[in-house]
Amino acid sequence: METKAALGLECPSCEEHAVSFSEVEEPFGYGVDGERVMLFARVPRGTCASCGFSYTDARAEVLRHEAVCEHLAIMKPKEVAAVRKECGLSRSEFALVTKIGEASLSRWERGKGIQNAAMDQFLYLLTFGENLLRLRARDRKPKCLIQTGVVHSTSVYHFPHVANVQEKEREARAFVLRPTGT
Ligand SMILES: [Zn+2]
Repeated sequence: METKAALGLECPSCEEHAVSFSEVEEPFGYGVDGERVMLFARVPRGTCASCGFSYTDARAEVLRHEAVCEHLAIMKPKEVAAVRKECGLSRSEFALVTKIGEASLSRWERGKGIQNAAMDQFLYLLTFGENLLRLRARDRKPKCLIQTGVVHSTSVYHFPHVANVQEKEREARAFVLRPTGT
């Protein structure tokens, strides 16, 4: 950060190379209505010596997100990623074993979404290697089309095997009764 300040970054407002960054304790609001709280994050803030423009960038976003995670007492994005990496799994492999949606996992790891408390507890349990082994040993795979993301109504798929049997029997009867030569 100090190296960048010495170079004098370009100001987004006046375009002079006169911006230097320093760390400031910055308050920000989190939550809605009655649950709204004031949180603090220590973020790098740029100030232009030429025009006085002051701003924060993507680094501050990450730090604010981490402050929210601390407030909620849940894992930060890099901690979520660390749980998965400690398991030695890619996102898709981890998703397959845990049944956590890969897109959700990706959002939590990139700080674009926040896992709920229950999921955070689940992730915590996965920091113990034997729990991953238990999930692997359980090896439960959906028997129908859940993995493709297609959701079927239960009325259609409530007793798929019964329906299949009847269909097969109808097919078999039609075959047997079909007159020869047509
Ligand atoms: Zn400026």
